[in-house]
Amino acid sequence: MNPDPRHLDPSDWAEFRASAHQLLDICIDRLANAEAFPWKSVPVDIREGYAIAETGMGETEVAKLLARDVLPYATGNTHPRFFGWVHGTGLASGILSEIVAATMNSNCGGRDHGLVYVERAVVDWAAKLFGFPETSSGLLVAGTSQATVIALSVARLRALGAGVRKQGQAGRWLTAYASQSVHSATSKAIELLGIGRENLRLVPEKNGCMDLPALQELVAADREMGAQPFAVVGTAGSVDFGCFDDLKALSRIARAENLWLHVDGAFGAWIRLADQRWSGLADGIEDADSIACDFHKWMYVPYDCGMVLIRDGAEHRAAFETRPSYLAAQSSGLGGGDPWYCDYGIDLSRGGRALKVWAALQSYGPERIGSAITHNCELAAYMGSIVESHPTMKLARPVVSNLCVFTANATLARENQSKLNAAIAQALQNSGAAVFSTTNADGTVCLRAAITNHRTTAKDIDFTMRAVRDAAETLLTT
Ligand SMILES: *Cc1c(COP(=O)(O)O)cnc(C)c1O
Repeated sequence: MNPDPRHLDPSDWAEFRASAHQLLDICIDRLANAEAFPWKSVPVDIREGYAIAETGMGETEVAKLLARDVLPYATGNTHPRFFGWVHGTGLASGILSEIVAATMNSNCGGRDHGLVYVERAVVDWAAKLFGFPETSSGLLVAGTSQATVIALSVARLRALGAGVRKQGQAGRWLTAYASQSVHSATSKAIELLGIGRENLRLVPEKNGCMDLPALQELVAADREMGAQPFAVVGTAGSVDFGCFDDLKALSRIARAENLWLHVDGAFGAWIRLADQRWSGLADGIEDADSIACDFHKWMYVPYDCGMVLIRDGAEHRAAFETRPSYLAAQSSGLGGGDPWYCDYGIDLSRGGRALKVWAALQSYGPERIGSAITHNCELAAYMGSIVESHPTMKLARPVVSNLCVFTANATLARENQSKLNAAIAQALQNSGAAVFSTTNADGTVCLRAAITNHRTTAKDIDFTMRAVRDAAETLLTT
């Protein structure tokens, strides 16, 4: 018992224990019955009830509130028929690791303690998977958006030298290159680095891949104009159609042109774990200078968890190392240990994100996770085959990996197809049948399924496609 209100621990640990156990059971029940819980909108009174109360109500009340008013209103991406955007689906191992991470409350910016070594184990595993050398480095970040900023910062340091940290770009005109369908995370990173979005040249595509002769022409034209081409961003798994740039050929051009090769592999990099029928799509990623990817997408790990890998650990450190006296290294003790992750990224204080990846890999093993990834590709192909055998549906692009993009009725005028597809996506979300998102393919808004969902079965695909057909019929007759 701790009656002093200035201490924030529970006044009655036995009561806390009981309510925490109860909440844990509710959480496990929810995940064990994931198919019963699609997305649903948050009622207004519940939303308004989230306002912070004047006085605390104690942990037991909060545990009840969490179960009653918060837990039910999730994104729905734990549901087996969630295919929207590119959302990972979570893992039971995450419940275990998040309990322990919250209890440990470690600051993984540096020093000498367990979770720093866990993070190193995760980064080492990933570096090996992607064929990076032992001298490479990496760290876990919120997601690919942040990983891209870090990777391109290191690229900029290589182009401009260490002086860029003191003087900024000092009038130098840098240009970078990526295919037209590059994710907005790359242009955001280019903006944040002060390079300017117009200096990210968008290279035309051929069959969903960056057109490499066009890239070389753009680089040459920029050099002619006095710019300094410094980086090219290859995509392993494009957000719209799941396409892969030819990374082997791209890396040869990058070397020849003295460009840093960064690979955005947010979800697609993990195809490396899939069956041979698909894993080759990411061949060449081992020749990149940096990779950005997300554990929270196609590794199914709970949000948020991305990673940046840099081929040359020394360059990486040179771009971020800062040790004011209050962060001085010690030869031993808690203040010892090397490297410190704060020397490799933006964040000084950072949580134990690596633990949920570690728990996932130790629970299921890379092989089983790989088979889930393979199955997702098979299901996307299966969805594609249903589209192709339907009299009015039509694929926007061939299915390459885990994305299937199609229109529900290709016989309509473009504009009406767009309206229909958008309406189907909304109707299915609202009914809880399935979640598609939409994207624009050649001027038509299409239904888009990105399958990064280890809970999906072939039956779910059948159910979903019947729901699309039914919704299309209903919408077209009303
Ligand atoms: C999701 C995604 C990103 C952004 O990653 P976040 O983890 O959301 O920051 C970048 N590129 C691609 C291809 C993506 O799918």
